[in-house]
Amino acid sequence: MDEQNPAAGHRSYDEIAAGREKYLSPALATFTAYRHPLVLTHGEGQYVWDSEGKRYLDCLAQNLCISVGYAHPAVNAAIARQMASIQHVTTMYYHEMPVAFAERLVGTFPAVDDANGDRVVHFVNSGAEAIDIATMAARLYTGHHDILTLRNAYHGMHFSAMAATGLALARQPLPASPGFVQVANPDQYRGIFGPGVEPYVNEIANTIDTATPGQVAGMLIEPIQGYGGVIPMPGDYMKRAAETVRAAGGLFIVDEIQTGFGRTGEGLWGFEAHGVTPDIVVMSKGIGNGFPLAATLMRREIAAAMGTRKFFNTYGSNPMACAAGLAVLDAIEDEGMQDNAARTGAMFEAGMRRVAERYDAIGDIRGSGLMLGIEMVSDKATKTPDDAIADAVQEGLRERGVIIGRSGRFRNVLRINPPLCVTGEDAAFFEDALEATLAALA
Ligand code: PLP
Repeated sequence: MDEQNPAAGHRSYDEIAAGREKYLSPALATFTAYRHPLVLTHGEGQYVWDSEGKRYLDCLAQNLCISVGYAHPAVNAAIARQMASIQHVTTMYYHEMPVAFAERLVGTFPAVDDANGDRVVHFVNSGAEAIDIATMAARLYTGHHDILTLRNAYHGMHFSAMAATGLALARQPLPASPGFVQVANPDQYRGIFGPGVEPYVNEIANTIDTATPGQVAGMLIEPIQGYGGVIPMPGDYMKRAAETVRAAGGLFIVDEIQTGFGRTGEGLWGFEAHGVTPDIVVMSKGIGNGFPLAATLMRREIAAAMGTRKFFNTYGSNPMACAAGLAVLDAIEDEGMQDNAARTGAMFEAGMRRVAERYDAIGDIRGSGLMLGIEMVSDKATKTPDDAIADAVQEGLRERGVIIGRSGRFRNVLRINPPLCVTGEDAAFFEDALEATLAALA
């Protein structure tokens, strides 16, 4: 019996693995980490334990959902308090929690120029849904259809979000939802125009001139491409992209699903470091510390464009989810987690750079705060991607008690995105584990 969770502990590892195979959709097997998958039992702070009682430093944080730490006492207490009074209130009725959380979220938005500062929030349950709301509202508001996204972007796997995603491995072989046009991503390591910003901005204008009617509904960008392989938007690219798209009648939409809630260390929102104020921001993952919740924050008049028809989704604005969200924002503020992301992220990065001096398999290190990536190559000069070594490092780190992710078009980028409560000791532990893993593989 698992003491942390009396409802668990009745099935052996083999029974769970066999049950997954027998009863869960085969599509889920396409995204399983590790050759011998992990059965997790519980988590605390930045650590999780597996069914054999082994502890791991979790540098993936359930794909960045665990923002303020597993079993955060204040977040858990807020959910429990809300659950004890009423678990769900659909959007047909009023309840104070979504109001309080929306007010707080809008308040986190940086004070901007903003003649149009009146912003509202639309709550849903998952990132792909929130992307869908963003693109639908942008189309209705502008009266245009095409949405530009970047190659290598990841915006989700539901029908519409999948069309916004620029990675074949995340797209089903079906005709994609129409009206998404991709442009070259300004990858400074292996982008098609090499390093620099200018050619990538020109590419946006060229694409609008050639692949759309000359006017667009918007452009959707991650400040750091996450599943695409931790690719940060360089220099003033985002600012100039916004200018180009707005000149064509479109809105600037930022996907903060991975970069938001202090993770980059530079601001609560990733866009804050780029001198641009989005018209629409999409958020999820870290928003609820694992509670299923997502939101699209937009200018009031954009959201109002969806108001000519009835809109309802059953679980949007769930009060337990909103209570979790409020407690997450408190924790980030009260415990200085954004600053910790900057400070501790710099320690993780410095450790990676020390290790990289000794191993040619590390081609590039990039990212910001606690959103970091290590690109593995078989040849530094040709930058040939090496997914085999990336896989071996992921497995080797697991043996040494560290969970990481792997992403990128070539599956050769190691993702290091721990909860925002990690410490300098964790950074040192990670560095030692990375060094030992690479030494063993050399
Ligand atoms: N956008 C980004 C940047 C993401 O990382 C993800 C999920 O990983 C999504 C959108 C889609 O979110 P969800 O998986 O909740 O649909």
